[in-house]
Amino acid sequence: MLTLLCNGTVITPSEIIENGGVLFEDGVIKDVGNTDKVRSKVFRVSDDKIQLKIIDAKKKIILPGFINTHHHLYSTFARGMYIPGTPAKNFVEILEKLWWKLDRVLTTEDIYYSSLIPLIECVKNGTTTIIDHHESQEFQVGSLDEIQKAVEKIGIRACLCFGTSDRYKKGKEGLEENERFLKKLSTVNCQLSTVTAMVGLHAAFTVNNDMLEKSVALAKKYNVGMHIHCAEDLADEKDSVKKYKMRVVERLKKFGALGEKTMLVHCVHIDEKEMEIMQDTKTNAVHNPESNMNNAVGCADVLTMMKKGITVGLGTDGMSSDMLSQMRCAYLIHRHNKKDPTVAFVESPKMLLENNSKIAEQIFGLKIGKIEIGAPADLLVLDYIPPTPLTKDNFLGHLIFGMVDATADTTICNGRVLKKDKKLEGLSEEAICQKSRELSAKFWERIKGI
Ligand SMILES: [Zn+2]
Repeated sequence: MLTLLCNGTVITPSEIIENGGVLFEDGVIKDVGNTDKVRSKVFRVSDDKIQLKIIDAKKKIILPGFINTHHHLYSTFARGMYIPGTPAKNFVEILEKLWWKLDRVLTTEDIYYSSLIPLIECVKNGTTTIIDHHESQEFQVGSLDEIQKAVEKIGIRACLCFGTSDRYKKGKEGLEENERFLKKLSTVNCQLSTVTAMVGLHAAFTVNNDMLEKSVALAKKYNVGMHIHCAEDLADEKDSVKKYKMRVVERLKKFGALGEKTMLVHCVHIDEKEMEIMQDTKTNAVHNPESNMNNAVGCADVLTMMKKGITVGLGTDGMSSDMLSQMRCAYLIHRHNKKDPTVAFVESPKMLLENNSKIAEQIFGLKIGKIEIGAPADLLVLDYIPPTPLTKDNFLGHLIFGMVDATADTTICNGRVLKKDKKLEGLSEEAICQKSRELSAKFWERIKGI
């Protein structure tokens, strides 16, 4: 149905439109501009009986829905979980004591419900596109179908992959799941889905050369990119140098894993030479500052990467589904780290708004993250009434210091209204959380046994 989201301040890549409106139909933006002009054009070119659905933005901010370029939907059941024994002392111990236990006891139903929760949080926070990285090592083949089901129920856009790993000698199954899912999505029945896929690998230090080679071949066969954790901790680089006599990015390059559709997540410990390889191959990086601080792995030098021309996007690494708070964290950590109040004001919003859009465009083949004619109708109304003048020149100041704390009023993805007037459409969050609590309590019992 032809719908006009109107009477708001529309933020487009080139201008800020007061009393603006966005017209969309069949999931695609048809017109953008002054509300009255857009409305009058509709009635001028069509007959008077045209049905036009109106959504009033009530003078609030209309933005493109946010994009999260690195998420882990499966991480939900870790929330509040008690881990007996001494606390993890480093990154590898965090993996061994928490994540590598968690991903061995997830069942079919666990994966579905642990996905629903953060997907609902995406809608609540105005995030309409995610690039997810999934791992469930004891239930690999078929696991991505559960996430797809959850994504389609909630209604956002997602690119899924399985993080293949040889840490339990089960890499073959991970590769099989990536292939099975890519093949399934290429069938006619799935063409209209908002779900797409790429090839996942956990990280260089848990993937052997044979699996790396086969995964790259699979990505090339389906013309998709690779999604891999890279140099998150120094342990990844040390392992690579010890086993293969080359650094992580050099090894990935040797096997042909790099390119403009590939995302190297974290890149905290890469050196200048590795940055240059990424730049030469147009490989994307994804920055996850909250997660890096939480795991105490260091601060990725993304400011240098951006200066070198690398596209650095912004993700949450499963920490949350709130992209505005992640953007502010990026802004704060780099100022703090460099002890320089002149940095990150431009770069942090750029990662969120411009670079995530660029990465999503490569991966989904759609102009996601922009309000312009022909782009998908992925829109957000942010409950922010500017208390000082808002112009194109001072937008970033409003974004970092004001909009960051505002609530998403309305969230629309692919033309489907998922949240309106701060209420989720057609979903009982309470019932989903109730079921999730029951499943996670059983899950916590099972995890004690390994
Ligand atoms: Zn991650």
